[in-house]
Amino acid sequence: MSFNTLGLSAPLLKAIKEQGYTEPTPIQKQAIPVILNRKDILAGAQTGTGKTAGFTLPMLELLSRAKHTSGKHHVKALILTPTRELAAQVAESVEVYGKHLPFKSCVIFGGVKINPQIVQLRKGIDIVIATPGRLLDHISQKTIDLSKVDFLILDEADRMLDMGFINDIRKILEILPKQRQNLLFSATYSDEIKKLSDRLLNSPTLIEV
Ligand code: AMP
Repeated sequence: MSFNTLGLSAPLLKAIKEQGYTEPTPIQKQAIPVILNRKDILAGAQTGTGKTAGFTLPMLELLSRAKHTSGKHHVKALILTPTRELAAQVAESVEVYGKHLPFKSCVIFGGVKINPQIVQLRKGIDIVIATPGRLLDHISQKTIDLSKVDFLILDEADRMLDMGFINDIRKILEILPKQRQNLLFSATYSDEIKKLSDRLLNSPTLIEV
């Protein structure tokens, strides 16, 4: 099976080819068509399975399908990660896979100055990759507008819960538009993850690799 049958368009297939990928990984085969169908997913996937491309590629595809109706840059996709390192890695993937598309992304995490992030956000951004704490700082300072988000991804949700981010996540969920697609990725399942997925996801498709 090749990437060509998954429903991704030419700019993404080109970027995939340039990365040297010949075949989608199992999580990509399962997740990409479901996400393109605008379904919520609950995916159990470890690092190294290709999960990042599994959500980034269909996210970019859906944004590009919607592009002609919006025009201007608004934050339409929000990706939350537990750590700065993961945020930076995911941001790099968004750049690489999206290099033939016109979207702008920015990464937001703590431990660095907030002003450069504010400057970047003001320029108009389509995709934000963030850790919860610093995102809340931007929300409370009103330096980010999340009123147009229709795509939310929680990457390594189990680690976010382990790190005590549940209240931050709750606060972020409160201010997001109710009508949106949600993807939850977690390497492990627990009662806490179950509670979060019950709260967050609408009739999710379960994906296990
Ligand atoms: P991840 O699980 O998202 O951290 O990805 C693990 C690694 O697999 C990354 O270095 C990706 O560049 C690589 N990768 C992702 N998808 C594919 C694919 N379809 N074929 C080959 N390598 C891939």
